[in-house]
Amino acid sequence: MNDVALLDKWFAILDNIGVNDDGSTSRMGYTDVEDAMIAAVVKIGSEYGLKHCVDEVGNTFIYNGTGEGDYTLIGSHLDSVLQGGKFDGIAGVLAGMLILKKLQDEKLDIPVKVGIFRMEESSVFGIATVGSKLVTGNLTEASLKKATNADNTSLYDIMIGRGYKANPAKITKLKQYLELHIEQGRVLEVKGLTLGVVNSIAAPVRMWVKFTGNQDHSGATPMDLRKDSLVAAAELIVAVEQFGKAELANASVATVGIVRNTPNVFNVVPGETTLGIDIRGIDKASRERVLQNTEAKAQKIATEGGLGCSISRVSESDPVKLDDTLCAKLSKTAEKLGIAHLVMPSGAGHDAMNFTEICPVGMLFIPCKEGISHNKDELAKTEDIARGSDVLLEYLKNMKIKLYNHQNLS
Ligand SMILES: [Zn+2]
Repeated sequence: MNDVALLDKWFAILDNIGVNDDGSTSRMGYTDVEDAMIAAVVKIGSEYGLKHCVDEVGNTFIYNGTGEGDYTLIGSHLDSVLQGGKFDGIAGVLAGMLILKKLQDEKLDIPVKVGIFRMEESSVFGIATVGSKLVTGNLTEASLKKATNADNTSLYDIMIGRGYKANPAKITKLKQYLELHIEQGRVLEVKGLTLGVVNSIAAPVRMWVKFTGNQDHSGATPMDLRKDSLVAAAELIVAVEQFGKAELANASVATVGIVRNTPNVFNVVPGETTLGIDIRGIDKASRERVLQNTEAKAQKIATEGGLGCSISRVSESDPVKLDDTLCAKLSKTAEKLGIAHLVMPSGAGHDAMNFTEICPVGMLFIPCKEGISHNKDELAKTEDIARGSDVLLEYLKNMKIKLYNHQNLS
């Protein structure tokens, strides 16, 4: 069976787990459905003589050899958003499994662990990449206690209830971290490429901007006596887009995703409007410019219109740079295999970002149809997953040969 047929077969097994009537998937982290996904991949591994282990927070590692000593970690996740797709995360895990299978077939002694990290998606508890954050020391027990679902149950209680710990030991012995993921954007597709080598991962700053004007009768209040909070907000929305566009060359993006308008009725001039703004980038200075321009513009609009304005930043994390050397090696490997590719940033967060303090991190993107993700129409080609895993495998083989060559010299 060739690689593509094998991947198709594995996808067909997983496709039946956590599937909704409309064909979307709901495989939430720390649920029986996520457990079933992990068990299915462990079973696939066992058919090739691969062993597995589970860490203190429920992350599962499938590996060749003894599992002792230094290793390359190939990670991703098997959970999904509510009504998500079938490729986000899964593509990376199965690419790793394909590499392990081929190392077994070729009897190559290159220690690899495929890491399946718990609860990568933030849809239920508001925290993303939970499993990988916990074992890299990027998430505290207090945050798990604070994070609650719609039923007001904390993530901490759910984890403890399932027999896991909230204070795990840090992951050790990994030489490097690799991940393949669907792009979740349209860049590769638009450029007609099947591979991206990721050099950095963007991080968002989120903020609320609230304009307070006068809530007045829409018929009885002349135009020159109004303090319309929605008009002020509208002006800011247009400006935010301009600030984002001005940083196009630095790959920053700015989005007003939320408008809360009060009282939001026909016959009243809006008195209070709040905007939820998400600003992301890989270049911190560029992202900061968008932020500061946005804050200054909001104040200016408010002052000129005689309105009140309050601004609060709700979350802020730093963009992450992946390993330059590793990125260059992956590019070179792709070239060697004749695969045209693009070195590009990732706009979305991934498990990979949590490992940059621990070891060199490299990441590959494959295209997904029309950039659609977190949706039942999410679609990637198994050919592209196979090709991406070829690049990672070839890179690992070269590394191994180099290791042997230098052994006598040291
Ligand atoms: Zn993902």
